Amino acid sequence: MPVKTKVASRKSARVPASPTGPLVTRAYGSTSATAPLGDLTIERRAPGPKDVLIDIQYCGVCHSDLHTARNEWKGTVYPCVPGHEMVGKVIAVGAKVKKFKVGQTVGVGCMLDSCRKCHGCKKGEEQYCDGPCTFSYNSPDPKHPTTPGTMTYGGYSTQITVDQDFVLSIPKGLDPAAAAPLLCAGITTYSPLHHWGVKKGQKVGIVGLGGLGHMGVKIARAMGAHVVLFTTSPNKVKDAKRLGAHEVVISKDPAAMNAHANSFDFILDTVSANHDLDAYLTLLKLDGAMCLVGAPEHPHPSPTVFNLIFKRRTLAGSLIGGIRETQEMLNFCGKHKIVSDIEIIPMQKINQAYERMLKNDVKYRFVIDMASLKR
Ligand code: NAP
Ligand code: ZN
Ligand code: ZN
Repeated sequence: MPVKTKVASRKSARVPASPTGPLVTRAYGSTSATAPLGDLTIERRAPGPKDVLIDIQYCGVCHSDLHTARNEWKGTVYPCVPGHEMVGKVIAVGAKVKKFKVGQTVGVGCMLDSCRKCHGCKKGEEQYCDGPCTFSYNSPDPKHPTTPGTMTYGGYSTQITVDQDFVLSIPKGLDPAAAAPLLCAGITTYSPLHHWGVKKGQKVGIVGLGGLGHMGVKIARAMGAHVVLFTTSPNKVKDAKRLGAHEVVISKDPAAMNAHANSFDFILDTVSANHDLDAYLTLLKLDGAMCLVGAPEHPHPSPTVFNLIFKRRTLAGSLIGGIRETQEMLNFCGKHKIVSDIEIIPMQKINQAYERMLKNDVKYRFVIDMASLKR
């Protein structure tokens, strides 16, 4: 069923400074922690002077979408529309938009706005904003067209209105569907690899070969590291090597794990479930660091202090990446021709996709073809 909106036509796509709206938009989301995702109608604000209105073509499926839709992290407000790996075409811009043009392919990730004043924002690391920070879904939206404070609705939808400062350019030459997962899986792995200075000659471990993990393998390899992939799934060994891992270790095999003791400069843990961290901390060499990006529903068992104080090891965490760094990552991926390995699904298959994600059966990111929601 087509939805009528007040989107400007291509010819007159620069919208007036004073916004009108709201824009009625089709979406897919959940109405409770146990309900399957289904059709919803939401409202987007008509673009203000600095806004970009985007027709969403593709949206990647992150495990965070599942954690949130099912209230695994608590605090989900329903209805909940997940999705923070959006790629689409600009269909209208506000009068003061300088950075983007109608027809351009752009991306939107996990953030829609931030306070722009705090320490994190001033450093260009808006993901660490002291607040208010507007995440792409399940986050209070001060700019909601009718009821400010309503939660944001994510990319499982046909269009979105975003401040130009939080819109990313997708490098030419990257397939738009396969580039969508860069907006979360790409930046969430690039940022810590970059922050901890991964470079040629270093030994880097990536734990888990899912959406984040497979991007971590590709990016760490492109940074020049010797990449070792840890997996619980023996059937992923061949793929891991094809994706760029020099070595693959089945993490359930203690002898294979011990063979790498005290040898890693850096380990990136992307696992979506709680597990034993000591098994990896003991693999770090002197001054090595392990960074957690996986955000399981239940806590990991506390690691042994002695594994940290001996060899001065670091255990850290990292959240997505700032807007400047996200653009830097996209340009890096453009240069190295890195995209995600994807399986395209229609919106209506999202519930099956979530079930497969829970069985570690993702090769290696589902991407929703949003045309399936526009019919
Ligand atoms: P995913 O595609 O489902 O991949 C997770 C992988 O973890 C699986 O493929 C599996 O890899 C491994 N795994 C799952 N259960 C396991 C278990 N019980 N023990 C050991 N390994 C297990 O998920 P994703 O989208 O990559 O997201 C991963 C995690 O990162 C999620 O918790 C997500 O919320 C979080 N995340 C965090 C950020 C951030 O900013 N920090 C951003 C995005 C996502 P193998 O089959 O290879 O073992
Ligand atoms: Zn994500
Ligand atoms: Zn801030």
